[in-house]
Amino acid sequence: MGRICLKDKEFELFIPEQQIREAIAEMALEIRKDIEGCGNPLFVSILNGAFMFTAELMRQLDGPYEMTFARYSSYRGTSTTGKVNEIMPVTVDVRGRLVILLEDIVDTGTTMQYVMEKLKSQGAADVKLATMLFKPDAMRCDLVPDYIGLRIPTDFIVGYGLDYDELGRTYKDIYKLVGE
Ligand code: 5GP
Ligand code: MG
Repeated sequence: MGRICLKDKEFELFIPEQQIREAIAEMALEIRKDIEGCGNPLFVSILNGAFMFTAELMRQLDGPYEMTFARYSSYRGTSTTGKVNEIMPVTVDVRGRLVILLEDIVDTGTTMQYVMEKLKSQGAADVKLATMLFKPDAMRCDLVPDYIGLRIPTDFIVGYGLDYDELGRTYKDIYKLVGE
């Protein structure tokens, strides 16, 4: 599909599924190498957006790892609010463990900076961030993701887990907002 419509907005095909999956496969190789001999790492998938990324990454890792889910929100419509709401925090004991956060996209970095600091304050031995997509030009803090699938410009995108007001998550490809 070249173009899709969600509510009042039009989006055009931006990153096809195949390219996303290749980027995730490369990331999986890196992560596997890094967590070898690392005891008992905990993967935390950040809902709702990271569900497809998480499934693909875990299928690629194909290992005996523990994973859990958490949910935060800082977005309304197509722009960030700058304030992080904890909808479903991490409830697993992270003390002394390597925690790897799985996020759909890092934009200003506000959400992940908040979550990483919180997990460190709860006693995690180390907190790493794996993000499927990264918007380097939108970054507003000094966060550096440890694993990045693809770097993209500061466009608003949907698909492969990402939504526009809860719609569009279920497309297998990624689409970007047609210029306004
Ligand atoms: P940040 O806190 O880094 O500014 O925002 C991160 C969160 O905002 C992501 O987890 C994601 O849910 C949402 N977000 C950021 N950019 C986009 C985008 O282009 N499209 C969609 N659908 N969500 C985005
Ligand atoms: Mg998200």
